[in-house]
Amino acid sequence: MIFDNYEAFAAKGFAPKVIIIGSGPAGVTIARKLAAANIPVAIFEAGAADYTDESQDFYKGTTVGDPYFELDVTRLRQFGGCSNHWAGWCRVMDAVDFEPKAWVPDTGWPIRRSDIEPFLEEVHDILDLVPFRDDELVSDDIRWVQLIKSPAVRFSEKYRDEIAASQSIALVLDTYVTELQGDGKKVTGAKIWSAGKEQGVATADYYLPCTGGLENSRLLLWSNERSNGGVVPHAEALGKYWMEHPQFEGGNAIMENENQFEMDEVSEAFFSPTGEAMEREQILNFGIRFIKMPYHGVKWLTAELACVAPETAEWISSGLGGNLRCAAQLVVGWEQSPRADNFVALSATERDDLGIPRIELHWKKRELEHRTLLNGLRLFGETLADKGYGRVRIADWVVNNEPYPTDQELAGHHHMGGTRMGDDLAKSVVDLHQKVHGMDNLYVGGSSVFTTSGQCNPTTTIVALSCRLGDHLARRITQSAMLDKG
Ligand SMILES: Cc1cc2nc3c(=O)[nH]c(=O)nc-3n(C[C@H](O)[C@H](O)[C@H](O)COP(=O)(O)OP(=O)(O)OC[C@H]3O[C@@H](n4cnc5c(N)ncnc54)[C@H](O)[C@@H]3O)c2cc1C
Repeated sequence: MIFDNYEAFAAKGFAPKVIIIGSGPAGVTIARKLAAANIPVAIFEAGAADYTDESQDFYKGTTVGDPYFELDVTRLRQFGGCSNHWAGWCRVMDAVDFEPKAWVPDTGWPIRRSDIEPFLEEVHDILDLVPFRDDELVSDDIRWVQLIKSPAVRFSEKYRDEIAASQSIALVLDTYVTELQGDGKKVTGAKIWSAGKEQGVATADYYLPCTGGLENSRLLLWSNERSNGGVVPHAEALGKYWMEHPQFEGGNAIMENENQFEMDEVSEAFFSPTGEAMEREQILNFGIRFIKMPYHGVKWLTAELACVAPETAEWISSGLGGNLRCAAQLVVGWEQSPRADNFVALSATERDDLGIPRIELHWKKRELEHRTLLNGLRLFGETLADKGYGRVRIADWVVNNEPYPTDQELAGHHHMGGTRMGDDLAKSVVDLHQKVHGMDNLYVGGSSVFTTSGQCNPTTTIVALSCRLGDHLARRITQSAMLDKG
């Protein structure tokens, strides 16, 4: 069932067991899992079926620290959420990403990759993925990994008909959950604004904010402030440990043989470090995106190198005209360390049209981020040279530790952390089942629960976690219904 607003939904008299807030990949995936177990669920979606400027305005905010995207540009407030403009790059986080790293504080999830692996077959169906191939070792330091360029499923398109026909899912559009109310043990209701006015408080047995990796923090911070800690009783880490994937062109490579690594359909290949290399170099995970350049790129690089690295230029030109060499841009996207001083806060001055504080995002890259970029490119260059595959030129600004360029991609539009998963109440917000510490009926979906960010795009892992959470909650609800029956 799909309703245009809350009034139409209320008139129907549908009583949800679970209220999901947000209809992006996380919310829709969890709703479908619950519906498969015949559990009635309402998805309250603030936006409309399609994009509107009015809805998008609620996403405005400010950033303090490093240059970042406008907060109303880096996400979409409509049915399907950011899946309406995501690029479709898919990979599940590495096993090593879930492990604690002695050289980086506050790493280590309370779950392992093996906890989400049972759901990967479902994830493939949901995201229309072909099977992943295994990583291949290029050297002791570098893995050749795969990111699948998927068809970028738009959840609003792929699942619209299924949801419309479902008797277990009620998708309610134009329904802004402005705050959750709670007594420190349970959420008692969700305050609703829809069809241009307040609609009172909606209730269910369970509540799941799935409003995206920035908005989950905002909704919970605001709800907690309004309820004097009644929604997130252990709120020390709320909004904190926010992470992105910095993304910059860090250099170039020239390859002896253009077919050394099989390129994907968009002429790209990806390389990451081994766990041993990360530990030895005391760095984080990274993904080097090897993007083939046209022939004139090789000539340009050779000319550049002739001034600064004549031996390498000589090596390159000796092959030109004979065995044509291949050049590539090396765009690096990498893991950011989880830090309490990168955080989502409620603005003290800026509010949306309903008077709710907008986001003030505090975000900075630190020394470890630079070390990861520089040492990662160096490791990749050493691997190519040792194997006789090619040479790498690292960009001057990286070598000289100059400020990051401001005219590049900057980051991945990947919003992670803020309600991170963990056992330590002071450093996390949700437990291993994504349930808010100390609350009986409040779970959080999406990448805000990521404890660390890994290096790869987040949505495949978000969907896997959402399948796991949907499964867990469906089992919990079914078991408690059986107990109630005696
Ligand atoms: C340009 C771009 C490219 C990207 N490319 C990739 C990629 O290639 N690979 C990848 O893995 N990821 C990519 N991403 C990230 C990906 O889009 C997100 O990881 C994913 O959409 C997150 O899903 P989600 O369901 O957690 O949140 P969202 O998709 O953000 O959905 C949240 C939903 O909640 C709704 N909502 C918000 N607040 C409220 C409220 N208070 N009440 C009711 N509803 C509310 C919103 O309207 C929205 O529908 C990209 C993102 C962008 C912006």
